[in-house]
Amino acid sequence: MNLLLTDALVATGNDARQVLPHAAVAVRGSRIAAVGDTAALEADPAHADLPRMSCRGLLMLPGLINAHTHTVLLALRGTVEDWEGEAVYRYMSPISYAMSGEERAAFAVLGCLEAIRSGTTTLVDPFRHVLDYAPAMAATGMRLWLSESCADIDMRRIRHGDYSVDPAFGQGFLDRTAGLIEAMHGSHGGRVRCQVAAHAPDNCSPAMLAAVRDLAMKHGLTRTIHLAQSMGEVAAVRTAHGLTPAAYLDREGFLGPDLTGAHWTFCTRADIDLLAERGVTMAHCPASISRRGLHKALIGPIRDAGVTVAFGTDNMSEDLFQAMAFGSILHRTGRGRDGEGGVSPTPQQVLDTVTCNAAASVGALAEIGSIEPGKKADLTIIDLNAPAMRPTIRPLSNLVHYGHPGVVHSVMVDGAFLMRDRVVLTVDEPKVLRVAEEATGRAWARMLAANPDLQPPAPLNWGGAA
Ligand SMILES: [Zn+2]
Repeated sequence: MNLLLTDALVATGNDARQVLPHAAVAVRGSRIAAVGDTAALEADPAHADLPRMSCRGLLMLPGLINAHTHTVLLALRGTVEDWEGEAVYRYMSPISYAMSGEERAAFAVLGCLEAIRSGTTTLVDPFRHVLDYAPAMAATGMRLWLSESCADIDMRRIRHGDYSVDPAFGQGFLDRTAGLIEAMHGSHGGRVRCQVAAHAPDNCSPAMLAAVRDLAMKHGLTRTIHLAQSMGEVAAVRTAHGLTPAAYLDREGFLGPDLTGAHWTFCTRADIDLLAERGVTMAHCPASISRRGLHKALIGPIRDAGVTVAFGTDNMSEDLFQAMAFGSILHRTGRGRDGEGGVSPTPQQVLDTVTCNAAASVGALAEIGSIEPGKKADLTIIDLNAPAMRPTIRPLSNLVHYGHPGVVHSVMVDGAFLMRDRVVLTVDEPKVLRVAEEATGRAWARMLAANPDLQPPAPLNWGGAA
């Protein structure tokens, strides 16, 4: 799209983190052509041919990037958040295998819709059987980094205490990774890309970690893994290898600046020093993890070690406003004088976690993560005339502490509006909701029939809203 967006308050995210009043952004095709004072750009003959769109009363941000999510797990929303016990190997893994390809796609598109309405332009989404739904996600217009979360220990058996390595199971992941890269990497004009992922240290043998590392090197891709996500993972890795998860990955040569580790919840101080030294990025999912009780990640030492932190939503939500609000609280808790709390990180630093830091985590800082000439025209536009954004004394403070999906006015990716003036343009919204609701009952029924030990603690009301 060719467009001159005028008279906005623009939080550029450039090196100086300039916030420009009465600013204009010129978009040509998929890229930002110019950023500057509205009067100057309107008078510049170079932009005379561009149609104009007034953004008076709007705050323009670099497109928000969700650094770690699993859209398909929206199938569990409103259940395991409130149930006792481990949830990854109980429920999350079984339901992902109980779904058909169409059902996975139904939840993946629901996730994209929620993400767009929450002002998100990019999702980093590692999961399994991704090619079932990658084309449907791509059709929503979102920018994507997709991957198969490889494992060679069958995660459906882990809840029964079975950690035996299954090379054929692992080969299935590696084959699907190769197929996903071939089919999707660089597609849609480069809007859809791949990573290479290992699921977690407790379900990947040294051979699997090596295979994942080699695939990433062969294709020149960034990597991701869950790390120290649960006490069970820590105990299993200790039993199998006599090491912490981070130390096990280091022994296998898996740590490096091209790796993003999600969670770090049970990392020790020595782990944090090791991960910082290796340049590993932390994908922190503060809202997701906190829903089952305030979590224990050593945020102070992580930040003090200079680790790059990117925020994600992980499971059952695509709302980055919750990630920013919970993240701001968690990253301030226990800091400051005498550990009574403090006001670091700043709102701009919190915003950085879902813009430039998240862009860097997938090796794309040269393309996205700020509003600067030459970068992709990925923009999140906020309505300052929403009650939560008034009074507008320090707009980024309003955004981080009080923002919610209702303040999002428009979302642009690659120079094309996915949502304009609160109307989503790329999906049939009522149909997406209906199809996901219908898929929920089928997928749950199939999972419960196949896994009699997973009966929910109370009767479920699937389809009740339809
Ligand atoms: Zn995850």
